[in-house]
Amino acid sequence: MIIKRILTVLSLALVCSIGNSCGEPAGNGSAISGWEKMGEKTEEEEEENQGQNNQGQETTDPEDPYADCWFKTRGIVAGWGDVYAPYSSYKIDYLEIAKEHGLNTFSIYGPDRSSQIWKDYMAEGAKVGVKFEFQEHMMSFLLPRNLFSTHPEYFRMNKSGVRVEDANGCPSSEGALEQVYLNAKRLGESYKPTNHRYYFWLDDGGDICYCPKCKDYSASDQALIFENTIIKALKELDPDALLAHLAYNNTTNAPKKVEPAEDIFLEFAPFHRDWSHPLSETWTEGNSGWTHAKYLKALQENLKVFPKETAQVLEYWMDDSLFSGWNQSNLKPVPWNSKVFLDDLKTYAKYGIRHITCYCAYVGPGYVQKFGFPDFLIEYADGLRDFRKE
Ligand SMILES: [Zn+2]
Repeated sequence: MIIKRILTVLSLALVCSIGNSCGEPAGNGSAISGWEKMGEKTEEEEEENQGQNNQGQETTDPEDPYADCWFKTRGIVAGWGDVYAPYSSYKIDYLEIAKEHGLNTFSIYGPDRSSQIWKDYMAEGAKVGVKFEFQEHMMSFLLPRNLFSTHPEYFRMNKSGVRVEDANGCPSSEGALEQVYLNAKRLGESYKPTNHRYYFWLDDGGDICYCPKCKDYSASDQALIFENTIIKALKELDPDALLAHLAYNNTTNAPKKVEPAEDIFLEFAPFHRDWSHPLSETWTEGNSGWTHAKYLKALQENLKVFPKETAQVLEYWMDDSLFSGWNQSNLKPVPWNSKVFLDDLKTYAKYGIRHITCYCAYVGPGYVQKFGFPDFLIEYADGLRDFRKE
């Protein structure tokens, strides 16, 4: 997600500094007129949709002390260096926070997954109720670029009609899908989550295929063709496997032509939003013309395609890699705003979302050394744990 995210931060800062784009619209002339009240429509829609989209319904574990929490997934996505620094006096004990404040899902990038240290960390996590999953961009492993020299037809055609191996692939190519299937099975073994939720994201910001067979499929449709193949492979390893469809950047809008296979869940990542205003301020404009209204509309449309029960939000409220412009040597404070966070939880709950995770990349020892202990981690965990739908 990095390249696009850098661009976003820079553009977002620019947008907010040159005008009133981040403020409330003056009147009814707004380009998003009509969507201002859209959050209020969701309750009736929820009732209308009752009985539909029931796949993936979860059962309540009577042993779970958090069984009455609205949010079933209360997660973080962080780097190994953020969560594991045993010799640093500035370390953050994320497992202790999980234990005391109810976080229950960690996606950690960067450890040596074959190492004893990592295995021990997972075992310690399991003791305090933490499940581990692996949220990563995987397309270059699913369809290795070195196949391009012998099989260019596996790869995407650009708008000039030339096959290129810069990103993703051609989802109309049987050969490409066969490679994706075989590699998904292999990778599924080494990236086995402890919650059955798999994330084999496509390339970050990668363009799509414009070959004659693919050109009428959107980025979301093309992603789903690959995902429908990946889930088939994962089911052979793990019959309870669920696979994320990442709605992010060019795949934010709902797929229109391709239907998700059973057990594909929506992962909605509103990367271009503005975190200084809640999503409920629908007139707020983030980056690339993405207003909060546009995001909520996209979420609503996606929830007509994917089951509500398993849908997850991937947020950035605490993502210091984003707020520091991916420069770990010049960390900026996380602009945490608990009012925005709590209001956003209300919005997501209105749509029936029960799974929430959030990047807290770069919130590690370096952060503590520079800014002190990040209390927002506690506010985040408590907020998710204590939320009850009105
Ligand atoms: Zn194609």
